[in-house]
Order: sequence, then C-alpha cells, then structure tokens
Amino acid sequence: MLFPLPIDLFFALLKRVDYLKEQIMDFSLSEKLWNQAQELFPGGVNSPVRSFQSVGRHPFYVSRAKGSKLFDVDANCYTDYVCSWGALIHGHCYSPVVRAINEALQNGTSFGANCPLEIRLSQLIRSAMPSIEKIRFLNSGTEACMTAIRLARGFSRREKIMKFEGCYHGHVDSLLVKAGSGALTTGIPDSEGIPASLSALTIILPWNDEEKLIAAFKKYGRETAAIILEPVPANCGLIPPKEGFLESIESQARAYGSLIIFDEVITGFRLSYGGAQALFRIKPDLTVLGKIIGGGLPVGAIGGKKEIMDCLSPLGKVYQAGTLSGNPLAMAAGIAQLEELQKGHAYQYLENLGQQLEAGMLEIQKKLSYPLQFHRFGSLFSFFFTSKKVASAADAYQVDKMKFSSFFTALLSSRIFIPPSPFETAFLSTAHTESDIDELLKIVYDTLKKML
Ligand SMILES: *Cc1c(COP(=O)(O)O)cnc(C)c1O
Repeated sequence: MLFPLPIDLFFALLKRVDYLKEQIMDFSLSEKLWNQAQELFPGGVNSPVRSFQSVGRHPFYVSRAKGSKLFDVDANCYTDYVCSWGALIHGHCYSPVVRAINEALQNGTSFGANCPLEIRLSQLIRSAMPSIEKIRFLNSGTEACMTAIRLARGFSRREKIMKFEGCYHGHVDSLLVKAGSGALTTGIPDSEGIPASLSALTIILPWNDEEKLIAAFKKYGRETAAIILEPVPANCGLIPPKEGFLESIESQARAYGSLIIFDEVITGFRLSYGGAQALFRIKPDLTVLGKIIGGGLPVGAIGGKKEIMDCLSPLGKVYQAGTLSGNPLAMAAGIAQLEELQKGHAYQYLENLGQQLEAGMLEIQKKLSYPLQFHRFGSLFSFFFTSKKVASAADAYQVDKMKFSSFFTALLSSRIFIPPSPFETAFLSTAHTESDIDELLKIVYDTLKKML
C-alpha cells in the first residue's frame, strides 16, 4: 500500500489515533486467527517463542511492518524491539534491501545452479571477517551450526563438542542441551527425541567460569573436536563475557588442538562490521552466520580456514548440500544489507542509541531502585528481573518470570514490543530514533513504578 502522506506525518497521525485508542486496544482479528492456528499448528505456531506462552497471553498477528514499527491485523501499531530476532538491523522494509529483492525476483527465484550473487555476498563477508577464507551458504543458522559440528568432527577425527549453558546454536540434536532461547522459554531445557548417546558427546560448561573451563579441557580436551560459543551470548538474556574469558577459551582450545567455532548468527555484522571477532580480536577456526546476512530472508553460512572448509563435499568427505542454498533472492538481500552496513555509520548510530538507553535506565534505577539488572552491549539489551548480578545462565534462571510477564504486558499495551520471554534479547535497529528511546524509557519508568 502507498501512503500519500509524508511518512513522519503519517506516524504522527497514527500516534494520535493510537493515543485515542489507548484504553480500547482491539485484538479481535488476532484472536480469530489464533483460534484457527491452534487447530493447525502444534501450540498454534511455527516457532515456539511466538506463542507468547511464557508471558501468559495470546499473540498478535502481524499484517505489515515498516522501519521500527509493526502493525497487527487489528491495526495496532508497535515499536518493535525484536526486529525479526536481530535479522533486521536496518528495520523493516528497508528500501535498499527491498529494491534488491525486487530486482533479483525478476530474474527467477531459484535456479538449482550457481548464480553470480553468491560470489558477491561471499566476497563481502570474507573481506569483513579475515578468519573466513572459504564459505558455504545454507538456509538457516541451525543448518550452519549442524554443518559446523559435523565439519569439526570430520576434520579433527574427534567426537566430543563443548558448549556453554544458555548458548543457543539452533535446534541441532547434539547442541540442544542446556540451550537457552525457545528451549528455555517453553520450560524444556533438554528436548525429548535426542538419543542420550548423542548428547553424551556434548560437554556443557557454565559461561564466564574460567576454572570449570580449564578443568573441562584438562579432562576432555584431547577428545574435543570443537568448542562452540556465542562470543556475546544473547539467547539467555544478554550475558557478555567477563574480561579475559574469551581469551581463556582461545588459549585452552589452542593448547588441546580443539577448534574454536564462533556462532555469530546474532553478533556478526551487528556488534561491528567484522562481528564479535573483530571487536575482541580473536580469530576463530570456523564462524557461523545467519540472520543479518540474509537481510530478512532465510540464510545461514559457515566460513573458516581453507584446510577445514575443504573437507566439505564435493572436495572432502564431510557431506553437506542444499536445494535452495545460495538462493538468489536471499543473496541479493544480503548483499544490499552488507553494502549499506559497509558504509559504516550504522554502528556509531546504534551505539549512540544504546548509550542513550543505558543512561536512561541508570537514571530509572537510581530513582526507583527496582530489583532489575539491565544489560546492554552495542545494540543488544535485556532486562533481568532479579536483584543479583547475572553472569551466567544459572544466574539468569533465577529471574522472577511473573514480574517479567507483567512488564511485557504493560509494555505491549503501551505499544512497545520486546521479546515475549524473560530469556531473550531485544534489538535496536537503525530505524529506531532518539525519540523512540525516550518513549521506551518513559514507558519503562511508568511501568516499573506501578510494579513497585
Ligand atoms: C537464531 C540463532 C541460531 C539459529 O538460527 P535459525 O536461522 O533460527 O536456525 C543459531 N545461533 C544463534 C546464536 C542464534 O541466535
């Protein structure tokens, strides 16, 4: 749909309408769809967190989105701090991305053969992340993590994998152990349907615990193919690494010849153009990417050292394939996204918004001393409803989930959409503005004050 109004004026009017409707937020069309969905999908959804199960209310249905705004089928408008779980770093319907998809679409949707767009996107990624010498595109982050594990095992001829409690690497069997994210939200920390013999090969470590890390490597290091981690974990709330922790992981892995896999599905092209690895100056052996590099279309990628990557079929004996891999639409969207990010101003802008939010939250804490921990790293942030510091998944699990539910619901009725789970991270995009942040802070303040 095209609007004959300038977009700013449009939103100003919309706000006005929203204000008038404040008391009577209508969800009737969403309710209707939700009732149908219950019959059609397990739990009514195609991805667990979307059920809103952990915040004790029914979900809304999105009809469209633009910039930082999300519109539901009942014409409620929300400021969106989920941003398709971080994929949309420029916000919804970002015109360079939409244009690129439209252009590519005219030439076909899938070829089952090579297309030049694959070359361009891989060059962009490689020049952003020097640890990546060769790359392979897949269709999701899950797929990329699954392949990374198989590849690490095939290359090293070792079987064990180390991962951290609360880190999510997709719903891969051997990685769905203490996995955080949706697995946590629905109260199933370990999934059924995973053979014990498989999860026995996965060693779970507590995040930010150097002693346990060293002990684990001493015991299992020589049998460990790889240690996989989110360098800045964002699937159990946001729990940044303590000073020196990533360096300890690196030195332990190197000492025992285990590969280091950075799962940068969230952090890649978000924390900086070169991802977390550029920020922390660590060169992983393999990197897993997704979300942002697809510009909102389904993509995953795995990249790393040539000698490891060349173990993949058809050159090597580690099998991997995909009908839609390197899909022209997804490649075009990713190229447009990265070319815009490459210009560089996005990161300073996002950092400024993040700082504004953090400073405002500090003020709120000073005024209300609410038992709440606010974490922020670049454009990522999360709220932990606990009075204790949160440095690990175990700390995060202590949060007051009821308080989070009340907080979520109050924000939603003020037209703010944050992740519907106490164990997810919220996202800023370049479509958010200073006044969005001011509004968010005001609503958070009013909400917490009422909750005291
Ligand atoms: C989202 C995510 C994945 C899984 O990606 P999908 O595209 O959802 O399969 C893997 N790792 C991390 C860190 C993620 O945030």
